[in-house]
Amino acid sequence: MKGIWIGGDQLIEDNPLILDSPHVPLIMTEYTGFSLSRTYHKKKLILVWSSMRHYAEKLRKRGADLTYVKTPEMERTLNEWIKNKEIDELHISEPSNIHLKKYIEKLNLNCKVIFLPDNQFMWQAQEFRDWANSRKKLLMEDFYRTGRKKYKILLEKDLKPSGGKWNLDRENRKPPPKYGFQEDPPQHIKFPPDKITKEIIAEVERSEYPTYGKGNDFNLAVTHEDAEKALDFFIEEKLANFGPYQDIMLTGDNVLWHSILSPYLNLGLLHPLNVVKKAELAYYQKNLPLNSIEGFIRQILGWREYMHCIYNYKGDKYLKNNWFDHERELPTMYWYPEKTAMNCMTSVIEEVRNTGYAHHIQRLMILSNFALLAEVNPSEVKNWFHTAFIDAYDWVMQPNVIGMGQFADGGILATKPYISSANYINKMSDYCQDCTYNHNHRTGVDACPFNYLYWAFLHKNNEKLRNIGRMKLILKNLDRINKKKLKQILTQADDFLKSLK
Ligand code: FAD
Ligand code: SF4
Repeated sequence: MKGIWIGGDQLIEDNPLILDSPHVPLIMTEYTGFSLSRTYHKKKLILVWSSMRHYAEKLRKRGADLTYVKTPEMERTLNEWIKNKEIDELHISEPSNIHLKKYIEKLNLNCKVIFLPDNQFMWQAQEFRDWANSRKKLLMEDFYRTGRKKYKILLEKDLKPSGGKWNLDRENRKPPPKYGFQEDPPQHIKFPPDKITKEIIAEVERSEYPTYGKGNDFNLAVTHEDAEKALDFFIEEKLANFGPYQDIMLTGDNVLWHSILSPYLNLGLLHPLNVVKKAELAYYQKNLPLNSIEGFIRQILGWREYMHCIYNYKGDKYLKNNWFDHERELPTMYWYPEKTAMNCMTSVIEEVRNTGYAHHIQRLMILSNFALLAEVNPSEVKNWFHTAFIDAYDWVMQPNVIGMGQFADGGILATKPYISSANYINKMSDYCQDCTYNHNHRTGVDACPFNYLYWAFLHKNNEKLRNIGRMKLILKNLDRINKKKLKQILTQADDFLKSLK
């Protein structure tokens, strides 16, 4: 008899594995060993478990022979089920987490285990290998264009891009308007917890698991239907402004015009192709601006797929990358934002503690930027992100944090390190207006730490960075700083790093 094991992040609506075998025994497991192995954000635990239990309920209503178990002993539980159901072949969709696959392979199960292709992404691992083997550089922009052609998204009849350009970012990424927005960002859609979710909230609140952040006021979608509503809401209310405002950061609102769809995509509550097609339809049917539609589609068909492919392509050694040899510990402000006077860090981390979410530029240009300039060990940074975010999974954290955020792979994924001084943060946010530090000062008691750390970083890593074409102009600015000033900058950066706890 064949049996199917459904992973907790494989909750796809019409899973072909299940559809093709309607009478086959299914098993879903809540493995408490994972919850004890690291600290997770309370909202992440609630989201995952509630989504799993709602999915189980849906499968049962459809008549599935489903066993749902919460277990501290995975091997024993699976073997009992294998024996009871007389399973001789266990089918599993390829887990997106490499370590999970290794873990499953090491289980001593009393039947044959067969991994089948993962249907949750638009690219399969072999397709990417073929694509990658045919080129010298693995540029995301090339990958994205191939994906547009592969799925015929935003293409004219002659296979040229709609609107004439593949990438419309020049029209996006605007700073906050000087005289306020024409329309304020809409309040994001909320899904009040039902009975199942309320039970899980109570379970998480009283559990012995190490947790982070707040569990109350949980209002995320936990079913396919609600995740679809969240997508429709985003398309109706936010997508038109997504492009121009996607890099803006404002105090007290980590969401703005972003979609918060990653938690649903990463669990299988939404399928990326469906999201991309719905966004494309909004261009043709609702006449929404192409710069926003293209910008959003690029995030999913481009960045998300690319990150997943790179993770598989590079394998689990990727995590060990540490190109700058950074070995400092993560400063405690990441756990206790009240410990710093840096307004940008406090503002973003407080929201992360409450919600488990921050948008891309806050993750990249505040949280990760500071960790890189503060010379924190890249795996420590990755571990913090894994704990703090509701959408964190190994496959997406490694390339984003180690590659894009920390440039620890030396440039496999990004064409230059994403670092900035306070200049960029001040341009794109309102954080500096209420900060104890002065964003204009490079040295002195009130100088912004982003400033002296930025120049010190460039100075210390000058040799390595000189070989990166896109760093040349920036390094010319470093050369313009006179010796006396540079010495002050280096001393202040050194003192700051020594005092950083
Ligand atoms: P939107 O801004 O509305 O974008 C739409 C969708 O595009 C997202 O839902 C996401 O699925 C996809 N997307 C955009 N950029 C990326 C990217 N670089 N990688 C993968 N998908 C992308 N994403 C996660 O899903 N989980 C993480 O744990 C995570 N950690 C990150 C850590 C760092 C340091 C950085 C720089 C990025 C990280 N990202 C992560 C990528 C990206 O920041 C989030 O996907 C995005 O902020 C999620 O919010 P949203 O759904 O509102 O996205
Ligand atoms: Fe952040 Fe510096 Fe601006 Fe303060 S002045 S908010 S520390 S960038």
